[in-house]
Amino acid sequence: MIPISKPFIGEEEKKAVMEVLDSGMLVQGPRTAQLEEKFAAVCGVPHAIATSNGTTALHIALLAHGIGPGDEVITTPFTFMASISSILYTGARPVFVDIDAETFNLDVSQVEDAITPRTRAIMPVHLYGYPCDMDVLTGIAGYHDLALIEDSAQAVGAAFKGKPTGSFGTGCFSLYATKNVMSGEGGMITTSDPALARKCRMIRNHGMERRYYHDMLGYNFRLSDLHAAIGLAQMDRLADFTAKRRANAAYLNAHITSVVTPKVKSGYEHVWHQYTVRVDGGRDRDAAVKQLNDNGVGTGIFYPVPAYRQTPLIELGFGNVSLPVTEQAVKEVISLPVHPQLTQEDLEKIVYEVHRL
Ligand SMILES: *Cc1c(COP(=O)(O)O)cnc(C)c1O
Repeated sequence: MIPISKPFIGEEEKKAVMEVLDSGMLVQGPRTAQLEEKFAAVCGVPHAIATSNGTTALHIALLAHGIGPGDEVITTPFTFMASISSILYTGARPVFVDIDAETFNLDVSQVEDAITPRTRAIMPVHLYGYPCDMDVLTGIAGYHDLALIEDSAQAVGAAFKGKPTGSFGTGCFSLYATKNVMSGEGGMITTSDPALARKCRMIRNHGMERRYYHDMLGYNFRLSDLHAAIGLAQMDRLADFTAKRRANAAYLNAHITSVVTPKVKSGYEHVWHQYTVRVDGGRDRDAAVKQLNDNGVGTGIFYPVPAYRQTPLIELGFGNVSLPVTEQAVKEVISLPVHPQLTQEDLEKIVYEVHRL
């Protein structure tokens, strides 16, 4: 089976972990600081704050912006549940806006209509590694004085009009094992605002700057240096990984004609966390998945259920929504392997099997 994702673990990653073990400095030590520095540079921002995972990065970012009970956060229902869970953890209310049929990202033309006096933030998700239209979103956030929290978990290294994702607002990244760069588990917040960075650091580590003096209620959302060491080794591979993902996606786009393939508009630098096609026209998506899997092509469905139809949302009373473009996307999408470890033979097999659908 050609897997839908495959973490790359080389000698550098193994050596880096052993060095940390030998050093005895296991948590939030020098490797974490180096990873933060490298990440900030890649995202073109002065501050990066490492966290235990992408979900805690989002949670910290929302708290640092002062978002809490009674507040509304405008976001997409077509995302991984963690985007929404992080909003719920703060006591705020997710307000769902439909997606664009071509990019699967937030339909930015509908965002302004969703703003109410309680709106405090917009959380776009750069889904599959494709940046959202950040001209429109930064414009709306600026005009209405809203926080802009980018869920960039799938989009490290992506850019909109030459500017990296995670540098428009407060960026939140994941370094989970299957993401474009990984540390096993891990996350990162990026910001240009020094006061916000300081607040994020405090929330991450028990609300303290001076040891055992707790100025606010914080959490333990720290990253271990063992994980940071893996992430650092991976950051050196990011440019190669991204180039390989782009070449794989270009091959698939050039050869697949039997399903709707992803288009990339000019000005959008996609990093292809996922390569997602649509099985449209009422064709049976589940049968297509089964046929691909039976013939050795791994697939993913990201995502089969809109967030507003997940049990916790229904239980909290946020389930009374139905957005037509999202409803269609959840029935039609299939992600195909695009990861950097695919061979030419794998790519040809993927194309061949997709054409037999
Ligand atoms: C992976 C992911 C997250 C959560 O990151 P974790 O590191 O798994 O906690 C959040 N949002 C999106 C869009 C993701 O893909």
